[in-house]
This record gives sequence, structure tokens and C-alpha cells, in this order.
Amino acid sequence: MSADRSLQILLDELGRLPGIGPKSAQRIAYHLLEADADEARRLAEAILQVKQQVHFCSRCFNYATGDECAICEDASRDRGRICVVAEPRDVSAIERTGSYRGLYHVLGGVINPMEKIGPDQLTVRELLARLGSEDVEEVIIATNPNIEGETTASYLARTIKPLGVTVSRLASGLPVGGDLEYADELTLGRAIEARRAL
Ligand SMILES: [Zn+2]
Repeated sequence: MSADRSLQILLDELGRLPGIGPKSAQRIAYHLLEADADEARRLAEAILQVKQQVHFCSRCFNYATGDECAICEDASRDRGRICVVAEPRDVSAIERTGSYRGLYHVLGGVINPMEKIGPDQLTVRELLARLGSEDVEEVIIATNPNIEGETTASYLARTIKPLGVTVSRLASGLPVGGDLEYADELTLGRAIEARRAL
């Protein structure tokens, strides 16, 4: 393979990554070309490692390397509370606040009729099964404060409340239409503490 072709393949792959435009792709590609072989190998191995070893937790669908994630396995967590989030990155955002000691449940997205994503495309069935088998007092819905997030929250509240479990939602104060993962830790921590019953 020619050097040009080889470089072009790298540029194409880098350009597929979120947030990397053609200019950044070029900068990274040239950096890697000039880097020593060890640095390039470490990056390649880190990518392979994460793909081979990280999968979804069998209980909460957060990222895990074992059968269950580190949070589900942690005996010191409050098992009476489940915080429902859309994506694993939201778990990280809430963990960074240090304001929450319960468990999580990752939906794998939010209800979005335009994209034909309903409860069956998410891990809602698995969440309801957990409410049946685990001793849960409260479900805290922490989907993003946008239309899809609110639709998902009200669907979950309607479905869960008849089971006799308290359903609450993060307090307002988070930027409307914004993403949980970009909220600062203080604001997100306060929104968890000041959550309101649905
Ligand atoms: Zn888990």
C-alpha cells in the first residue's frame, strides 16, 4: 500500500470520530506519523482493549468489565434507590457530583417516536424486572431536560408508580435542552438532592 493510501485510511477513520473535523483528523494523523512506534502502539492497544474487555453490566447496563459493573458490585451502595439515565456517560456525570450513593439503570437511549425508539428498544423491561426482584423504594429519573427526556420520564412515572415505588425527577435548574453530561457538578449535585416526586 502506498504511503498516501495508508495515510488516507487513517484520516478517514479519524474523521468518523465525533467532534473530529478534517483539520483535527490531519493534525492527529501527522502527530501519529511523527510519534515513536510505542506511542502509536499504546493508542492502538487502548482502543482494542476497551473494545475487547468492556461490555454492559448484566444488572444495570452501565459499562462493566466483569458480569456486573463496579457500582452494582459495591456493597456500600444504597440498594433501595435506582437512578435511571439514558447513557453510561450520564452515570459518570452523576458519579462525579458525589451526591448520589444508590444504584443506576441505563436505558440505552430515550423514547423518540421520530426515530422509532419506544420502550421496547430500551432496557425498560429489564428495569421493571429489577423493581420486581430487588428491594427498591425510589426510582430517580435523570434523563436530559429536553423533549425526549421528559417524554421518557413521564412514560416511566406512569409505568412504575402503580408498582408502589416512589418516582422522582431531578429538580429544575439544569439548563433546559442541555445535556446532563455538560452540567457542572455543583448544579447536577443540587438537582439530585432537590429532586421532586412525580
Ligand atoms: Zn451495574
